[in-house]
Amino acid sequence: MFVELLPEHVRKLISAGEVIESPADCVKELIENSLDAKATKIEVELVKGGKSYISVKDDGIGIHPQDIDKVILEYATSKIRSLEDLSYLQTYGFRGEALTAIAKVSRMLISSRFFQENAGMQMKVESGKVIYKRETGMSTGTKIEVFDLFYNLPARQKFLKKEDTERNKVLKLIKEYAIAKHNVHFVFVSNNRQVLNLPKVKDKKTRLEDLFNSPFEEFYREEDYIRLNLFVSTENQKGDLHVFVNSRPVFNRNLVEHLRRIVGYKKVGVCFIDIPSYMVDFNVHPKKREVKIYKERKVMEMLSNVFRKPKTTVTLSQEKPSYTTEPILVGTMDDTVAIIRLGDFLYFFDLHLLSERLNYEMGMDETKSCKLAFKSGDKIQREEILNLVSRWMEFSNPHVCPHGRPIYYKIYLGDIYKNLGRGY
Ligand code: ADP
Ligand code: MG
Repeated sequence: MFVELLPEHVRKLISAGEVIESPADCVKELIENSLDAKATKIEVELVKGGKSYISVKDDGIGIHPQDIDKVILEYATSKIRSLEDLSYLQTYGFRGEALTAIAKVSRMLISSRFFQENAGMQMKVESGKVIYKRETGMSTGTKIEVFDLFYNLPARQKFLKKEDTERNKVLKLIKEYAIAKHNVHFVFVSNNRQVLNLPKVKDKKTRLEDLFNSPFEEFYREEDYIRLNLFVSTENQKGDLHVFVNSRPVFNRNLVEHLRRIVGYKKVGVCFIDIPSYMVDFNVHPKKREVKIYKERKVMEMLSNVFRKPKTTVTLSQEKPSYTTEPILVGTMDDTVAIIRLGDFLYFFDLHLLSERLNYEMGMDETKSCKLAFKSGDKIQREEILNLVSRWMEFSNPHVCPHGRPIYYKIYLGDIYKNLGRGY
């Protein structure tokens, strides 16, 4: 029907490997299958950190009844047919090996109703062998249940971490997909307790604000068919950086380090890169966790520029850019912090970091920038401070020092007045 075995020459080029080493690996593959099936709601359930039970249920298009035995065969996929398809990947899956791999190391129950059928099919598989297949009543979609992971591989079972650790890995993973797909409803239940319920939302910013409990600012840039969206939390938190390439959570050391340098290590920074599929290769790592980008330097350059605030106005992207004002020095604290009123905000600048950043922007290296910067406790003249702040408005990265520490902290004047019971 729709699922076919990949031809030999395509198999050889696919970076196959041990894709299933933990419950999180199962959940990742199952969630990706659900997303590929156009699910709008995905429910993940674990018992004992997934060691005794994992299930992923979706409302996607389902598996055709004639395909159900095929899905557990090696290299069985409905997603690619030829080598050319690998260069135009639109799906998470393409190797046709996840269900086989899970089926071999567990007892698995696949229940699925294809959207054009009136009933579902259920198939029980143990160590890769079909035990039974029968019709079942269910709504459109697919539910894959995995019992007793690695029951037939005690050696690998021993390598599983504590239940909590495995559960947390899964939680982290679900959050990543919830960020990637804000228009999908995710539910996570662990040991009969609901841990996460994230209904679909209108945009990525809302999803991030729900998940991280902080407002986010959005920055956007598009060049050479590459689109870049960067979201940065406006409140300081424990730093947390995420990179997505074409909606896939990925790890790319260069990109993450670069991101850390520009957003600092106290912010949540989430970067979405949308790039034509022929410019990326996900087929370099068995778990597709790593990605090769053919225009990596271009992406890094765009990332630096996207965080550059518009010159001439003092407003950061989300603030009303209705006017620009002169900075007003309200005072200094401990010869370390300058308090400045600017536009609708009260800024607290770290004077050392501010002058260090200025030195850096003028072309000094990190060490020299730091050495020649004002030190905490230096007596700095009011004019010097105002001069620093007006130069700050022109910085290419006004947010963090060369080492990634935030240069300033700001409070919305409206909040100050609101807390005093006055209007603003
Ligand atoms: P791949 O995702 O690489 O194609 P898998 O082993 O993960 O390989 O899945 C094999 C096939 O089973 C898929 O190509 C798809 O046709 C079908 N399938 C798996 N999970 C689902 C699902 N949740 N909904 C619909 N079809 C599915
Ligand atoms: Mg898959």
